[in-house]
Amino acid sequence: MDLKQLSERLSAAKAQVEARGETFYPGPSRIHLAAYPPKERWDDWVELDSRSWPKRVEKRYMLVPTTCFNCESACGLLAYVDRDTLQIRKFEGNPEHPGSRGRNCAKGPATLNQITDPDRILHPLKRVGERGAGKWGPVSWDEALDDIAGRIRSAIREGRPNEVMYHVGRPGEDGYTERVLAAWGVDGHNSHTNVCSSGARAGYHLWFGFDRPSPDHANAQVILLVSSHLEAGHYFNPHAQRIIDGKHRGAKLIVLDTRLSNTATHADHWLSPWPGSEAAIFLAIARHLIQKRAYNREFVRRWWNWREYMQEVHPHTTPSFDNFEQVLDSLYAEYTFEFAAGESGVDARTLAEVARVIAGAGTRLSTHTWRSATAGNLGGWQVARTLFLLNALMGAVATEGGTYPNAWNKFVPRPIYLPPHPKTWNELTWPTEYPLALNEMSFLLPQFLKDGRGKLAVYFTRVYNPVWTNPDGFSWIEVLTSEKHVGLHVALTPTWSETAFFADYVLPMGHGSERHDLHSYEQYDGQWIGFRQPVLRAVRERTGGRVGDTRAVNPGEVWEENEFWIELSWRVDPDGALGIRQYFESRERPGEKLGVEEYYRYIFENSVPGLVERAAAEGLAPLEYMRRYGAFEISKQVGALHQAVVPPAELSDLKVDELGRAYSRTPAPANPNLVPVPPLEPDAAGRRRVGVEVDGEILRGFPTSSGRLEFYSRVLADWGWGEVAIPTYIRSHIHPANLAKDEMVLISTFRLPVQIHTRSANSKWLDEIAHTNPLWIHPVDARRDGVQSGDLLRIETEIGHFVVKAWVTEGIRPGVVACSHHMGRWKLTDLGQRQAMATVSLDHRGDAWQLKRKESVHPYRSSDPDTLRIWWTDVGVHQNLTFPVHPDPISGQHCWHQAVRVRKAGPGDRAGDIAVDTAKAREVYQKWLGLTRPADRHSPDATRRPYWLLRPLRPEREAYRLEHPAPAAGPT
Ligand code: SF4
Repeated sequence: MDLKQLSERLSAAKAQVEARGETFYPGPSRIHLAAYPPKERWDDWVELDSRSWPKRVEKRYMLVPTTCFNCESACGLLAYVDRDTLQIRKFEGNPEHPGSRGRNCAKGPATLNQITDPDRILHPLKRVGERGAGKWGPVSWDEALDDIAGRIRSAIREGRPNEVMYHVGRPGEDGYTERVLAAWGVDGHNSHTNVCSSGARAGYHLWFGFDRPSPDHANAQVILLVSSHLEAGHYFNPHAQRIIDGKHRGAKLIVLDTRLSNTATHADHWLSPWPGSEAAIFLAIARHLIQKRAYNREFVRRWWNWREYMQEVHPHTTPSFDNFEQVLDSLYAEYTFEFAAGESGVDARTLAEVARVIAGAGTRLSTHTWRSATAGNLGGWQVARTLFLLNALMGAVATEGGTYPNAWNKFVPRPIYLPPHPKTWNELTWPTEYPLALNEMSFLLPQFLKDGRGKLAVYFTRVYNPVWTNPDGFSWIEVLTSEKHVGLHVALTPTWSETAFFADYVLPMGHGSERHDLHSYEQYDGQWIGFRQPVLRAVRERTGGRVGDTRAVNPGEVWEENEFWIELSWRVDPDGALGIRQYFESRERPGEKLGVEEYYRYIFENSVPGLVERAAAEGLAPLEYMRRYGAFEISKQVGALHQAVVPPAELSDLKVDELGRAYSRTPAPANPNLVPVPPLEPDAAGRRRVGVEVDGEILRGFPTSSGRLEFYSRVLADWGWGEVAIPTYIRSHIHPANLAKDEMVLISTFRLPVQIHTRSANSKWLDEIAHTNPLWIHPVDARRDGVQSGDLLRIETEIGHFVVKAWVTEGIRPGVVACSHHMGRWKLTDLGQRQAMATVSLDHRGDAWQLKRKESVHPYRSSDPDTLRIWWTDVGVHQNLTFPVHPDPISGQHCWHQAVRVRKAGPGDRAGDIAVDTAKAREVYQKWLGLTRPADRHSPDATRRPYWLLRPLRPEREAYRLEHPAPAAGPT
């Protein structure tokens, strides 16, 4: 409704009310209740105070945008700041954000619970006594910074840079901290990705060079999902709203999920396969498309690297497309619907029906898998590879309603300084056994430390809780409590966690409304950039004040990491002798510290296409614009970049090789977008790869070795994995053939839609909705064992057991049980988040560990009266402690699914009990290590890893050599 219509409506309403002799009250905001506050009125927005009802008390707000930090979607938030008290009263959606479009899930508004959490950490703390003893004392930021910086400085100067490690869970930002580590010259980046998404990433990366898909659900005719994207998927809310848009436009939704998730309930076709059989289903559908000639032959001919496949695998056959099609016919012949039905347990007729629906999608087939099956199974990366095979067959790649490579829909701007790549290689994160792992072998760190492969002088955990999140948490406790392995553990965290208990310093970091970050994610075929900002800093500046350091506006001494890293880097290199300080100095005030204001001002003024002009049109500087609106859309539609014709100006001294790869001597045009792109090798004469020849035209193509979509992966073949170089089916470690008669499969990977891994434990609104994680068990299995809902069960894994309540439901396959990983939080003392953490005892004798619940949650008195209203007591069980590590030998992904025995609990068992033998955990680690094909035996070129593979904080090329010497001492 425009303002004119609004005014007419108000006049009419006023006349009606006054005709009745009553006083007209037009509503505080003079706007339709279902509309978002128009941005012109964000400085002074009026609403009725709900707590004053039935009195009409008007509240005036300043609306300040920031970004939600409660999952990877980075949805826009609007903080409602009371103009009288300057306190944040609530968070709602930011309608100016192109990804989330004003909408949020429950976790967005619950940011308010996080910032008002009575148990949050507000001041820096230093341990007192033994590590893990639970005693803490205050410490100043200065003292902590000096201690940490001194140790980092010593490690760098003494040639021990690999002893500095930064281990991040939810980054929530694009590239800032990687830049810090590059400036320090350490290969110290570690991530959580191998317990999360590297299986899916590997499958996609091997196809098109980037490691994520960007599905255009809103315009699809068929949406094919593996897992529960409507409630908890990657880019959850932004994708969920577009899936619903697609459904409203008539798209059919097909969901593969062994569990009846909320997403499956919305599906036109829900398939509940045996876990790990998903790739067999996709290959059966692919076979159907191939045999019925229902695939897009022209697309396959132009864009697959079929010629390379024929030359390498069928060298005695003429590499013509006709011959390739004949081979393709036979390649998947064994994957009949009956075969897939046998593997998956899904009826062959249902599979045939789904295949027909997919065949009818044409190029409007959007598909997505993330975590789920790709993170559950040995060979799970082939689930993503076989799923995308369907897109590649249909030509539904970078089409309207199809699936794009993510990087085309993402924008990472060039920052003020770009330090060079590190010169060192860190074997603790990138060991030779896993040369193709897409991310750091993070969850093996305790085992590597026990192996004696290295040690850590300074270990940062940041928004990361490996003791609770990772498998084999007791082995984490064993190394974190050993100063022989970890010299100093610094936990950068807004809240207490199971890992922070075993730190030396606990340093309070800001929540989503208390920090700066930049991010951009592939949520539709466009590009946007979002700006997270400390809300009260923006308020102070909007009202004419100045803020030097974000601690001045945050609660207690809570800081933001960006300022922390700048300060720490100055103390690591106070005189600039290490060459580090230069990357943290102001350009505007040479010799002084860089401030966050200048850092972001530089980016917005120099590195975001179109922002300067857009801001100027509103009479704003670019930084002001981003502070005011929180997001900027760079492009509404990006389209099919692989089809872009390379302009003649880029084709000087053009050479095209036998695979069609085009090389030229023209320098690359400047590009402000720093999104990670795999490096493309120059030709023997040093020409740059500019594209690929397709039917006589030089097109941009894909950033793969061949320039095309890689049906055949030369990387896999060259590094010793030729038998899986094309999309195929790998039987999972929990395939029925690998299970004992009395074993079932445990699915442990699913999220609860309203919880976050660690940071939501004191979000009271969320805790009230979801606070426990019972074991889903089918009535057939329950009847056999005499189990009813609420009964206690003992779940035995390879290394121990946990005790959990049963939930009997038909929403799971017989033979499979499921338990969400989101609950079972615990603490050792009174310190912790009391709304969702049970207090436990932790005992061990040698390798035998036991965790027992001493006290569950209960009402308590705090600054928030609602904590006296806590009615729930059960907070679930921490099952991940009982899982050994299962690293996939190719992708490096931890394969989460477990073979378990489900028994009725014994007389001594109590809910939440855990018992584990870490010696057994070590045996399982060694068994899976034996599945690998290490670089020192399989590398084709004496390097540690294919240079082409994406890698966070890529070291310089020399460091890739296997015989590259250990790091030298730095300047003293
Ligand atoms: S989906 Fe929910 S938790 Fe994730 S960023 Fe959006 S509002 Fe926050």
